[in-house]
Amino acid sequence: DPVLRLSGIEKGYNRGQPNEVVVLRGAELTVARGETVAMVAPSGAGKSTLLHIAGLLDTADTGEVAIAGENLGGISDRRRTILRRQEVGFVYQFHHLLPEFTALENVVLPQLANGVPRKDAEARAEMLLDSVGVGPRGAHRPAALSGGEQQRVAFCRAMANSPKLLLADEPTGNLDPATSDTVFDALMRLVQETGLSALIATHNLELAARMDRQVRLEDGRLVPL
Ligand code: ADP
Ligand code: ADP
Repeated sequence: DPVLRLSGIEKGYNRGQPNEVVVLRGAELTVARGETVAMVAPSGAGKSTLLHIAGLLDTADTGEVAIAGENLGGISDRRRTILRRQEVGFVYQFHHLLPEFTALENVVLPQLANGVPRKDAEARAEMLLDSVGVGPRGAHRPAALSGGEQQRVAFCRAMANSPKLLLADEPTGNLDPATSDTVFDALMRLVQETGLSALIATHNLELAARMDRQVRLEDGRLVPL
């Protein structure tokens, strides 16, 4: 089974009202195990909407979402929450780390919520932070880190529970070009080492070219780039 399958996804906002906006019009996408896919589209095309649906943060009006072969139509809220926590990692343009906690603790907490013992959670968090070069920054709160470091910690948090699928919404969109390159390299290395599948939205065609496949979101559908 593919890690992600989206079939006939339609989604609009303010349905039936004068300010109705239809964003997705039958989007189709399959992401195979270990495959990395770049999604390119202008701002407002619906990338966030699509990623939120794939990441179980929002629901489609019609269409089917399947994660690792499990069709999400009609599953319980409880099962949905479990899948969201265990199978999907999400990275945003802004790090969204918890400001009151250290970098390490930000990677530990999702594991504790998932029932992992603290000792194991800390060991995994340290391993993840080390692998993207921010191990020595683990004791600092997010505000004390640079933008690139914050984003690398956010990747580690997304990977904390060993998801099958990584979803990222302009993960380097907030960084200067040089930092963006380094941070993206770290992300791709982490993805390839763990055999993870990834769907990453980016405006940056050079970064997109480093992924296995590129798609474009156009008129509410995904087409090959
Ligand atoms: P992108 O991520 O490509 O910039 P979005 O998915 O954020 O696009 O938004 C696609 C369109 O849907 C935009 O026109 C946006 O204004 C609109 N939109 C997104 N979320 C909402 C919402 N909650 N309510 C109303 N309109 C929304
Ligand atoms: P991005 O451009 O990074 O995708 P946005 O600023 O478009 O982020 O959206 C941020 C949040 O605001 C999303 O949860 C989105 O659903 C919501 N949103 C976007 N556009 C609108 C809108 N026109 N009305 C209400 N909510 C919106």
